[in-house]
Amino acid sequence: MSVVGFDFGNLSGVVAVARQRGIDVVLNDESNRETPAIVCFGEKQRFLGTAGAASSMMNPKNTISQIKRLIGRQFSDPELQNDLKSLPFAVTEGPDGYLLIHAQYLGDMRTFTPTQVLGMVFSDLKIIAEKNLNAGVVDCCIGIPIYFTDLQRRAVMDAAKIAGLHPLRLFHETTATALAYGIYKTDLPENDPINVAFIDIGHSSMQVCIAAFKKGQLKILSHSFDRCLGGRDFDEVLFNHFASKFKDEYKIDVKQNAKACLRLRAACEKLKKVLSANPEAPLNIECLMDEKDVRGFIKREEFEQISIPILERVKKPLENALSEAGLTTENIHSVEVVGSSSRVPAIMRILSEFFGKEPRRTMNASECVAKGCALQCAILSPTFKVRDFQVHENFPFPIALSWKGTAPDIENGGSENQQSTIVFPKGNIIPSVKALTFYRQGTFTVDVQYADVTELRAPAKISTYTIGPFQSAKGERAKLKVKVRLNMHGIVSVESATLLEEEEVDVPVVKEPTKEQTKMETDDAPPPSATEADVNMQDAKASADASASENGVPGSGNDTPVQMETDTKVEVSKKKVKKTNVPLSEVVYGAMLPVDLQKAVEKEFEMALQDRVMEETKDKKNAVESYVYDMRNKLYDKYQDFITEPDREQFIAKLQEVEDWLYEDGEDETKGVYITKLEELKKQGDPIEHRYKESTERGAVIDQLSY
Ligand code: ATP
Ligand code: MG
Repeated sequence: MSVVGFDFGNLSGVVAVARQRGIDVVLNDESNRETPAIVCFGEKQRFLGTAGAASSMMNPKNTISQIKRLIGRQFSDPELQNDLKSLPFAVTEGPDGYLLIHAQYLGDMRTFTPTQVLGMVFSDLKIIAEKNLNAGVVDCCIGIPIYFTDLQRRAVMDAAKIAGLHPLRLFHETTATALAYGIYKTDLPENDPINVAFIDIGHSSMQVCIAAFKKGQLKILSHSFDRCLGGRDFDEVLFNHFASKFKDEYKIDVKQNAKACLRLRAACEKLKKVLSANPEAPLNIECLMDEKDVRGFIKREEFEQISIPILERVKKPLENALSEAGLTTENIHSVEVVGSSSRVPAIMRILSEFFGKEPRRTMNASECVAKGCALQCAILSPTFKVRDFQVHENFPFPIALSWKGTAPDIENGGSENQQSTIVFPKGNIIPSVKALTFYRQGTFTVDVQYADVTELRAPAKISTYTIGPFQSAKGERAKLKVKVRLNMHGIVSVESATLLEEEEVDVPVVKEPTKEQTKMETDDAPPPSATEADVNMQDAKASADASASENGVPGSGNDTPVQMETDTKVEVSKKKVKKTNVPLSEVVYGAMLPVDLQKAVEKEFEMALQDRVMEETKDKKNAVESYVYDMRNKLYDKYQDFITEPDREQFIAKLQEVEDWLYEDGEDETKGVYITKLEELKKQGDPIEHRYKESTERGAVIDQLSY
C-alpha cells in the first residue's frame, strides 16, 4: 500500500511520500520538487509536466494549463469566462453546459473534458511518486481548495480514478498545512488550545483557516477564501501595464498575438518575483513581436500602486475567518503564511498590520500541502504507524435536503411546495451521516442542494435521488429511513433508504411510549428542521475505518442537536422492526456517468501507452545514433587492428549510410525499425568488438604473468 500526498496546484504540483523515517517531498526527472501542471498535446504524443512546460512556447494553443480553475465549472459562469480570457487554448461549451477543451492531438482536432486533463496531470504526478518509491501507487490523499463544490470534488475523484489512483481522502489544503504544522509540535498545551491562523496565497486563490491546537489534536474553527486572489492576478496587472506601455512606445499590440502574450506574461511573472527581493526590476524581451525588442522597468512602489485593487481584497477573507470562528485578532496565537504568492512584500505588510503581529514562515511555503496530505494518508493507512493526532475537519457549506410535500402534509397544514431541511449545517464535522424519516405511499424524490450559494457560484441543486419502489399497506404510508452521508471527501450523497415495518411480537410486555411511537403517531411529515434529523453516530464511525480521529463521535465538536435513533432503542419497545432495503437511483448534475468514466479510464490507458511507445521509440533511435558515432570513432582508433582494411572501409560507409538515413527516410520510423537497424549494425560490429576484448584480456593475463 502506498502512502502518498499530492498537492495539485493551479500552477504546479508537489508529491510527498511517507517512508519509514518520515515524510519526503520527492524530485521529478528534472530534479525539481515542483512539477508544472501542464499537458501539451503533440503530433505523436502528449508531453506532461516539465516536458509540457518546455513545449508550451512552441505549441501554445495545444498546451493546457490552469486546469484547477476549469474543472467542474459551467461555461456560463462569468468568473470562468474571465479566467478563459488569459488562456491561449480553445474552450467551448459542451452539451451539458460544462467545458470542452480543444487540442490538436495525433494529427486531429480533439476534445477533452477538464476532468480528463486533470487525470493526465495526476498520471504525471503518480509516475513521479512511483519512480521514487520504486513501487506502484494507488492509495493517496489529494489536497483540494476549501471552496471546491460537490461537483468539483467529484471531478477530482474521477480524475484520480482516470489516473489509476484511489484517494483515501480529499483533504482541504489549509487543513493539510495545519496538520503538517501541528503533528510535529511537542509543546502543544494540554487544555487551553492555541489558535493559529493559516494563510495560503497561491497562484489563483487565497485561503484562510483558523485551527485550534492542543496536545494530540487540531480542530478547524473556520475556513474562508477568495477564489480569485493569487499570484496570477499580480502577473496580470503587470502584463496590462506593460502591454499598454509597449503599445505607446513600440506600436505593438501584444494582445493580438498568442505567443507574445505568453512571453510577456512569463516575463511579468519573473519581474514580480524579482520585485519581491529588490526595490526595482527591469524587463527585457527580444523580438517580442514584429521583430521588435522591448525594454521596460518598474519600481516596487509603482507595482504596489497599480496592485491596490488586488491588495485591498486581502483583508476580507481574514475578517471572515475571524468572525466565523468567533475570535478577534487578540485570540490568535500566531499567524503562519504559506503559498508562494505570500512572498509579495505588500501582502506580508497587510497581514502583519491586520493581526498586529509578524506572520511566520515555519512551514515550507510550497511543500506543506503535499506533506500534510501524505501525513493524512499515513494516518488513514494501516501500513504506517503515526503519532496519535486527531483532525476535526469543518465543512464550509450548509447542505439541505429538499422534497415535495405530500397530500397529507397539506391536510396537516403543510404545502405542496418544496420543503427543505438543513442536514449538514455550515461547520459540520467531516465525515458525518444523518438519517431522516419519511412517510410515503410510493416512489418519491429528494434533492440534495446547497442551502446558500452566495459564496459558491454554483447551481443550488447538487443531485436528485429517486427512492422506490417499495410496498406499503393499502392506503397507508410506509415509514422510510433515508441516510445521507457527508463523506471523507466532503461529497454529499443519499446513501440508503430502508423500509421500516413494525411487527408486534407475541411476548406481552409493558410498553413504555418511546420516541419512535410518538413519531409514528404525530410525525406525519418528514422532519421540518435539522433538530429532527437524526444522527447515526455509529455509521459515521464505521466510515472512517482507519482513523478514529476524524469521526463524528459525541463531544468531538459536532454541534448538531442529536437524537440517537439506534436499533437497540427500537427493540426496547418490544416491537420487531423488519428492515428492507429500498432501491435508490441517483442523478448528480454535471457529473460524469460511470460508463463515461470507464471510457475515460480506457482512453487514458491508450494515450499513456502511446506516450510510452513514443518515448521508447526515441530511446531506440538515440541508440542507433550513438552506436553509429561510437563505432565510427573506435574503427578509426582502438578497433583499427582488429578488422581488415577493406572491411573497415565498407563498415564506415555503412555507418555513414545509416547516419544519413536517420536524418532522412529514417527520421520518423517505428520502434521496431530502429531495433532492426541496430541489430543489423551490431551483427557487423560485435565480432570486431569481441576480437578486441579477447586480445585486451589476453594482454592483461600476459601483463600479470610478466609481473
Ligand atoms: P494554487 O494554490 O492557487 O492552486 P499553486 O499551489 O500552484 O496554486 P503556489 O505554488 O503556491 O501556487 O504559488 C505560485 C504563485 O506564487 C505564482 O503566481 C508565482 O508567480 C508566485 N511566486 C513564486 N515565487 C514568488 C516570489 N518570490 N515573489 C512573488 N510571487 C512568487
Ligand atoms: Mg497551492
